[in-house]
Amino acid sequence: MFSEKEIQKIRSQFPILKKKIYSNYLVYMDNAATTQKPLQVIQASQNYYSTMNSNIHRGLHYLSHQATLCVENVRKKIQKFIHAKYSSEIIFTKGTTESINLVASSIEAIIKKGDEIIISCVEHHSNIVPWQILCKKKGAVLKIISIYENGFFQLKNFESFFSERTKIVSISHISNVLGIINPVKSIIQIAHKYDALVLIDGAQVPSNLDLNVQDLNVDFYVFSAHKMYGPTGIGILYGKKKILEKLDPYQFGGEMIKNVSFDRTTYSDLPLKFEAGTPNIEGIIVWGSAIDFVKKMGISNIQSYKKKLLMYAVKHLNSIDGIQLYGDIMDFSKKSSIISFNLDELHCFDVGCILDRLGIAVRTGHLCAQPLMNFFKVSGMIRVSFSVYNTFQEIDYLLEGILKAKKILLK
Ligand SMILES: *Cc1c(COP(=O)(O)O)cnc(C)c1O
Repeated sequence: MFSEKEIQKIRSQFPILKKKIYSNYLVYMDNAATTQKPLQVIQASQNYYSTMNSNIHRGLHYLSHQATLCVENVRKKIQKFIHAKYSSEIIFTKGTTESINLVASSIEAIIKKGDEIIISCVEHHSNIVPWQILCKKKGAVLKIISIYENGFFQLKNFESFFSERTKIVSISHISNVLGIINPVKSIIQIAHKYDALVLIDGAQVPSNLDLNVQDLNVDFYVFSAHKMYGPTGIGILYGKKKILEKLDPYQFGGEMIKNVSFDRTTYSDLPLKFEAGTPNIEGIIVWGSAIDFVKKMGISNIQSYKKKLLMYAVKHLNSIDGIQLYGDIMDFSKKSSIISFNLDELHCFDVGCILDRLGIAVRTGHLCAQPLMNFFKVSGMIRVSFSVYNTFQEIDYLLEGILKAKKILLK
């Protein structure tokens, strides 16, 4: 667990926290949308363009060789970070959204009319729409598992959703709205009994949980760099080697081919088979530096500090008159530091605007999860989500801000 002094030291590595919004210091509580970047990440970007910029896997010249080595080192770093068996199981993509689209597209040949795909009602739009489109194209059926009022999965009758037609299950590891950690290991075990593949949307996971894809025995796992102090526009698809080898490529072009003639083209081996075109080389290399940053802090240290922030915030938010918290569970071991709520009959945008004027950045609206908004019968929510640079004082300031908003808006 970090001391207050250590937190101050961590904060000093985030230049943006010195910025004033209107006339107040930024209080950034929209970390589930994207986290801020520490100096070493910002500097890694400048360093790449100043000393290494070149294309990879092609040139035999010095710079190209250096950049290729760096990219492949980050692949290995991510392999270790998530405990994958082979580094070739790590495919670089634009991020979570593209990774899910890749799987939904590459799996097309396996899906037949009448087959079934299972998702849940808490999913982010990027884990709904690709499956919806695939089902429409192939005449497959999309099945939706529901949750209890408190946000927990209805695991009890989960098995009744399965049949020999179930081909793939795609579920989030941590809900970006409720912060609830879903029982993915049990879900994977059940799905495998029916020979269904499982994709886990782990966008909210890295730097929040210690991730072990082999222990989970998951078939596909996806996340982005930008929610773990890294750059935007880069993420991964992890897939079991045997399964990835069977899937069709997603895009076609340079890098992903072995031989091209006008009669016939053969494809590269993993991972390049799924990495057509020049990738986000800078993004990959800079992400490596964000992973170093996370490892140096230690995931368990980050986790226990954020848990303290979560418990403090939930306790005090719950004491505000007229507040409604969603996914408000007692067992904090099953919740990451994301809290969504509404205040009386106030519109979330009005509350968000007043908080913004105070320099507090929160997320408002449907949070990319309209079906979940429908489940709770609301049009939107206010979401606060913490990172390692947030403090108890900032939470006090948030609480003051919420009371202020109520006073102004409820007149
Ligand atoms: C952020 C998020 C996504 C989308 O991630 P991108 O980086 O925008 O592709 C998908 N699922 C969940 C649970 C998320 O939190």
